[in-house]
Amino acid sequence: MITNPVVKELSEKYHTIWGLQSAGSLLQWDLEVNLPSAAAESRGVVLAELELLHQREMSSLYPLIDKAVSLKDELNDVESGIARVLDHAKKFYSKVPAQFIEEIQKITPKATVAWRTARKNSDFKSFLPYLEQIVALEIKIADKLGYEDHRYSALLDLWEEDFSVRDADRLFPSLVSNLRGLLSKVEKDGRFKADHALAKMKYDNAAMERVDRRVCELLEMPADRFRMDVSTHPFTSKITRDDVRITTRFEGFDFARSVFSTIHESGHALYELQINKALDYTPVAEAASYGFHESQSRFWENVIGRSRAFISLLRPILVEELPFTRQFNEDDLFHYFNGVSPSLIRVDADELTYNIHIAIRYEIEKGLIGEKIKPSELPSVWQEKFEEYLGIRPKEDTEGALQDIHWSNAQIGYFPSYTLGNVIAGMLWHVAKSEIDLDGKTRSRDFAEIKAWLYEKVHKHGSIYSPKELSTKTFGEAYSPDKLIEYLSAKYLA
Ligand code: MG
Repeated sequence: MITNPVVKELSEKYHTIWGLQSAGSLLQWDLEVNLPSAAAESRGVVLAELELLHQREMSSLYPLIDKAVSLKDELNDVESGIARVLDHAKKFYSKVPAQFIEEIQKITPKATVAWRTARKNSDFKSFLPYLEQIVALEIKIADKLGYEDHRYSALLDLWEEDFSVRDADRLFPSLVSNLRGLLSKVEKDGRFKADHALAKMKYDNAAMERVDRRVCELLEMPADRFRMDVSTHPFTSKITRDDVRITTRFEGFDFARSVFSTIHESGHALYELQINKALDYTPVAEAASYGFHESQSRFWENVIGRSRAFISLLRPILVEELPFTRQFNEDDLFHYFNGVSPSLIRVDADELTYNIHIAIRYEIEKGLIGEKIKPSELPSVWQEKFEEYLGIRPKEDTEGALQDIHWSNAQIGYFPSYTLGNVIAGMLWHVAKSEIDLDGKTRSRDFAEIKAWLYEKVHKHGSIYSPKELSTKTFGEAYSPDKLIEYLSAKYLA
């Protein structure tokens, strides 16, 4: 697989960085799942030291990276993938001063703790000083990285290689107008009303945890390489290819949120668990991008998880563990899981309005990084945009600008990945129609075959190809939202 001597040496030397990253992931997972709140500051110091070590190790590879890049035409796909991925990382670590990297690592654990308290008390002002520091730092980082069209593009590229404001400005406006058109048709049609009786029913957390564990078993998540814990904001963490962890959440009511968080994160986990083992410990043993990552979670959550076929497998589990579901049949569950209505909370948004939430965040982040919006203006900007796009206004910041963890983690530029994920999941649905009987396979619990199909389409490649190349390779075209609209129309207007 790797025969070129330069890339071979590069890959061997990369092992140290791989080890540092894996240790960092475990510490990050622990920060979200177990950390005593007083330890936020010292954990920030630990993470900063690790990241600085990462930067120093990277810098020792620069001459080899340059050499590998110059050999481009002599390299096979895996080798040129390694050169591309490391060159992209080099761009970050060579341009961003160590001092900024240290500052980001130190502030984010404190900001996360402050955000959690601010969110609980709906107190935006107590989070504002952290947000101001993070936005100011991200602006400085973007300026060091450089950009062509807009400063925000420099940050977008960190999450989705080669994705820019130009791409996003092409994607969002037409997507949003199509979605709003669909939304008004579906609302008029009236079959998919939100506000189902099941959403208000309370559950016992222990019973809910049993449901979530049984869902993981149903999806045949490998028990010896996978675990599930609990955190405020569900997420997936890869420590190594054989140690992939998800978290879920319990709120005591509206059990669909917990079930679909579990399915969503399992979709992320499956991607990591299924990257070609032969790529282990190399720079390309990673997902192609965060957009591709979200495509896997959304595919499992929405295309499979919310289908009638999957509900036929889920209902027997629900009936056993959550007795109040007994009086509801499969059709009731289907409508409960797929109800549509403009709402305030992104993670609970239905498939039709979800990307409108992202479009709003995209505009806000572009404004923050372009210095058109000040962090202190967020609560009012948030209100105006929700009114404009969805006709609703949050009463409190907990339902508005304080709802997401991303800004406290300095993940500015991440949000568009969610929409790319939905767009790619729509493209996968479209290819699936002619290649694999998703409904039949789901109904007969043949998930192995669906996983094998996803392995061929996406998983096995790791990040050998850039996200744009992988899109062309898998779908014969660049990201295009048409298939997502086609999928949603087929589902909601059939
Ligand atoms: Mg996700």
